[in-house]
Formats: sequence, C-alpha cells, structure tokens
Amino acid sequence: MPYDPKNIFAKILRGELSCQKVHETPHALAFHDIRPQAPIHVLVIPKGEFTSYIDFCRMASNEEMDGFWRAVGDTAKKIGADSGGYRLIVNSGVNAHQEVPHFHVHILGGRTLGAMLSQQ
Ligand code: 5GP
Repeated sequence: MPYDPKNIFAKILRGELSCQKVHETPHALAFHDIRPQAPIHVLVIPKGEFTSYIDFCRMASNEEMDGFWRAVGDTAKKIGADSGGYRLIVNSGVNAHQEVPHFHVHILGGRTLGAMLSQQ
C-alpha cells in the first residue's frame, strides 16, 4: 500500500497536530496514545514514511532501523515500563486492526495485560 501523507501520525510529525511528546530522536518520535488502553500506553513512530513493519524492514536504512529500535527501548525505560513488565505491539493491516497507516509500536504496561490475543 502506498504511504498516505494525510494520515494522523504524518500530521503529528509535520507539527500540524499536537501530541504529548515523551521522547524524540533524529529517527523517532514517542508520544502518549490519545485513547490509552493501560496506565502506560505510548506510541513510538519512525520519522520516515513507512506504512507497515514490512515496509519499514524493506525500505529503512540501517541507521533508521537502529535509531528507531533503540528509541523504542529508551522510551520504554524512560516511562518506567520495565517496572512490573510491559508489552510491545505492532498492528499491521486489516486483520490486526491497524488504524493509522504509519508504522508504529505500542508500549503498554502499568497493569496486568491479560492474554496475548483477544478470543474474538
Ligand atoms: P493501531 O490500531 O493503528 O495500531 O493504533 C493506532 C493508535 O493511534 C490507537 O491506539 C489510537 O488510539 C491512536 N491514535 C489515533 N489518533 C491519534 C491522535 O490523533 N493522537 C494520538 N496521540 N494517538 C492517536
């Protein structure tokens, strides 16, 4: 799927929409999810235009890849996700209910997170 520059995270990256920023590096931006599903719910997005994780793997430079995944870990540490445990989630495509077509990682924690998958 071609990248849609009108998606919400692209607008956040361009400064057209605000966000509650947690962490920023040359390759990544982390901010609080607008509809948190746990006491800790932060999104980490790469600054480049990647629709899905597969797009990211195929098109990101080694520097972007390295910078992004290090930023995920640094963000998790910064928000205290490791105290008590946390979960990283990447939704890609229709079956995974991906809502925003800009690759992102959810960091969730702060409570027991239950089963890995819903039974629906
Ligand atoms: P997805 O289902 O694509 O993996 O997750 C997209 C996430 O983006 C959802 O958890 C949703 O709450 C969050 N989200 C949608 N719009 C906005 C927004 O304008 N600002 C922020 N901070 N989060 C958003």
